[in-house]
Amino acid sequence: MEVVFDSRSENEGFARVAVAAFMTQMDPVLEEVADVKTAVSEAVTNSIIHGYEGRTSGKITVWCGIEKDKKTILVTVKDQGIGIENVEQAMEPLYTTRPDMDRSGMGFAFMEAFMDELQVISKLGEGTTIIMSKEIGKAQAEE
Ligand code: ATP
Ligand code: MG
Repeated sequence: MEVVFDSRSENEGFARVAVAAFMTQMDPVLEEVADVKTAVSEAVTNSIIHGYEGRTSGKITVWCGIEKDKKTILVTVKDQGIGIENVEQAMEPLYTTRPDMDRSGMGFAFMEAFMDELQVISKLGEGTTIIMSKEIGKAQAEE
C-alpha cells in the first residue's frame, strides 16, 4: 500500500487512518494499532514541520507492507525535504532544532518505543526516509 499526499498538517490524520486500515488484515489488538498510528504521526509531522519547514507543496509518501513471516508490518515515511545533517544526534531524546515551535525532541524516541525497529536514512538537501517495523500479534501468541 502506498499513499502520496501534500505536506499539510490536515493530512496527518489521513496518513494515520490509512495505515490503521492497512493493518486490520493482520488482526491487531487496539494497542498495536495505537502504537503504529502514533509512530506514523510522529514521522509525518516531522516531514511537514522539519523536512518541508511548513511548505505545503512538498510530497510525503507513506508505504506499508507485511513481511514474509506474515506477522510484521513495515512502514516507511518518505519526504524530499531538507534532510538531516546528523541523524545520530537528531535521534537523541530531547534533541530538537525547533525549540521555538514548542517541540520537545521526543518524536524519534516515541517511534523507537512504539515500534520494534526504526531506521532513519537522510541526506542533506535530498530528504529523509523513515523505515519502521513492528511484529503484530505478540501479545495474543503469549496467551
Ligand atoms: P517533537 O517530535 O517532540 O515535537 P522534534 O520533532 O524536534 O520534537 P524529533 O521528532 O525527535 O523531535 O526530531 C528531532 C530532530 O530531527 C528535529 O528537531 C529535526 O531537526 C530533525 N528531523 C526529524 N525529522 C526530520 C525530517 N523529516 N526532515 C528534516 N529534519 C528532521
Ligand atoms: Mg518530531
